[in-house]
Amino acid sequence: MTVHFPFDNTYSALPERFFRRTEPTRVAAPLLLKLNTALAQELGLDPDALASPEGVEVLAGNRVPEDAFPLAAAYAGHQFGQFVPQLGDGRAILLGEVVDVHGQRRDIQLKGAGPTPFSRRGDGRAAIGPVLREYIVSEAMAVLGVPTTRALAAVATGEHVYRETALPGAVLTRVAASHIRVGTFQFFAARGDTDGIRALADHAIARHYPEAAQEVRPYPAFLSAVIAAQAKLVAQWMSLGFIHGVMNTDNCSIAGETIDYGPCAFMDAYHPSTVFSSIDAQGRYSYANQAPIAQWNLTRLAETLLPLFSDDLDEAVKEAEALLGAFKSAFEDALIARFRRKIGLNTEREEDRLLVQGLLDLMAHAGADFTLSFRALADAADGDEAPLRSLFADPEPLEGWLQRWRERLALEPDETRPAAMRMVNPFVIPRNHRVEEVIQAAQQGDLAPFETLLKVLARPFEAQVGLDAYANPPALDERVLRTFCG
Ligand code: AMP
Ligand code: MG
Ligand code: MG
Repeated sequence: MTVHFPFDNTYSALPERFFRRTEPTRVAAPLLLKLNTALAQELGLDPDALASPEGVEVLAGNRVPEDAFPLAAAYAGHQFGQFVPQLGDGRAILLGEVVDVHGQRRDIQLKGAGPTPFSRRGDGRAAIGPVLREYIVSEAMAVLGVPTTRALAAVATGEHVYRETALPGAVLTRVAASHIRVGTFQFFAARGDTDGIRALADHAIARHYPEAAQEVRPYPAFLSAVIAAQAKLVAQWMSLGFIHGVMNTDNCSIAGETIDYGPCAFMDAYHPSTVFSSIDAQGRYSYANQAPIAQWNLTRLAETLLPLFSDDLDEAVKEAEALLGAFKSAFEDALIARFRRKIGLNTEREEDRLLVQGLLDLMAHAGADFTLSFRALADAADGDEAPLRSLFADPEPLEGWLQRWRERLALEPDETRPAAMRMVNPFVIPRNHRVEEVIQAAQQGDLAPFETLLKVLARPFEAQVGLDAYANPPALDERVLRTFCG
């Protein structure tokens, strides 16, 4: 069965210094672990052809499809605040772009497809664990309505990769609006390559922010649009208790999608300073730091764009600073809008911020589960406060808050409130201990837990009968406190 990709590539038409043409490296024994049929259809691809032996060869990197232009993109980036002038796709190879059934251009990339000119000391490969984690979490994020890269397929390679131990290898087919990062701009800025920055900005504008091209000053409008997209994105993460874990500038997407699911995790017990990543000793990328870090990353983007703003550096800096200044309020507005809905409010009052903060403070103090607390609040709106109280070892301090909340709700009677709250407060999220369990089983060749978890996460807002185990936080001995990069 011939698998046809209707490629329509634009990144490969950019100047040669933007990428290196790189063929994927063959793997021994490709085996399809999972195909995302719905996404395949959205992309205009034939799922049956993708699942055929020939299709799996493509998804494993053993066969480059017709009209593909396989490439590894060049980029730089600040990693934990340290600038690295050259990173680049070290284990990901872009096959090409397709225009999906909605008219959206999407990148199709193989992650773990073998070494590239940017691999440095890496092997260019991925282990099955991180591949399945990215599959699970990115697809869960998509269902939760968060802008994200997607997972089209996971394929086992039949080879081992060597991390601390030998692990089964896998390739993830990642789909993204694009893979342009803040770090891509930094790559050219670090080389004083203003023509490169302009070509990249023009490409990104045409692709992601065509409205900016209509503005009197397209490049500042572009920066503004990226700032707005990131502010919204991080607010959405925060509203779900999501911690990205490695918000380096090379993991900050210009399109405003969540990208690079390495040491990411959803919080169980709420605390603003929560960190999961094993390599984030300073807590730079903690839950509560995500907005300031996004702003820091956007400031790095703005620096690269200064030569496009004006020949007068002072003028350019002034303009960039004014635009960056909008991030904080854009983020805070997006955040309070989300949390208002989470606690059942439709109207806006100044004191709502304090009300939300009051609940979060109580949750932090009690170590209450983030997801279940908000879910139980929907029950409380329905007249049953017991589930919420049960999440607090000492529910006493909650009483004053509940009183204030009920008074606030009384200002806007709404019979549909509990149902509306259950549509924004998920019942299930990809809890770390469940993801770990799936990975452990998959490493032993058992994919049943992976399939079950995917099924549960496909309907995150429904309290599915018999699936409490997926909704509940980990028992003490199940807790996963550390996550690792792939
Ligand atoms: P990340 O921390 O995932 O954002 O990756 C940072 C950089 O390391 C990127 O340039 C990756 O392409 C590269 N990288 C990560 N893992 C590997 C690997 N196994 N082989 C080669 N390069 C890698
Ligand atoms: Mg990365
Ligand atoms: Mg990564």
